[in-house]
Amino acid sequence: MAVLDQVYTVDLRGLAEGRHHLVLSELGSNLGLPEDQLVVTTDVVVELTLDLTGSLIMVRGGISAKPTLVCARCLEPYESDMTAAFDAVIRMGHNNFRLEDEDETPVDFGDDWISFAPSVRESLMLAVPIKPLCSVDCQGLCPQCGTNLNFSRCSCGQEPADPRWNALKTFLEDNRGEQADGRS
Ligand SMILES: [Zn+2]
Ligand SMILES: [Zn+2]
Repeated sequence: MAVLDQVYTVDLRGLAEGRHHLVLSELGSNLGLPEDQLVVTTDVVVELTLDLTGSLIMVRGGISAKPTLVCARCLEPYESDMTAAFDAVIRMGHNNFRLEDEDETPVDFGDDWISFAPSVRESLMLAVPIKPLCSVDCQGLCPQCGTNLNFSRCSCGQEPADPRWNALKTFLEDNRGEQADGRS
């Protein structure tokens, strides 16, 4: 674990007062993510803004990654665009550092460095959608024969549409018409 957490590391020795901007990149496979929950084989880029005032460091991290998710509708793996962010406030002491607030994002400390690997891991896990979709237009699988309807048609859906939906459709169309009239 110690080796994994040497990634996204900032050397704090001699860090000057003021704002520092860092872009750190690491292969997702080096992050120690739980692979049954999140697979990232490409780079995970973290943009860090550090504001050092006295012994306090305010940290903002912006993460971008392209994890491979499995679509909840068609069950196909796809590369998604994921962004996440974290904040931390760190107080520097003599050869030690601590988080100001215990509830803040987790970080790892060494004698003179901080690793944001735990923050990146946690933020990415929280950003995983409950129902990932390869596309908002994903047609999903046919519930009867399992055909992926994004790629091909099957003959299951030939029966006429449920007439109850027609009533709703007519109602919606009428409503839309009235709104348009009201505006003009
Ligand atoms: Zn899909
Ligand atoms: Zn079918």
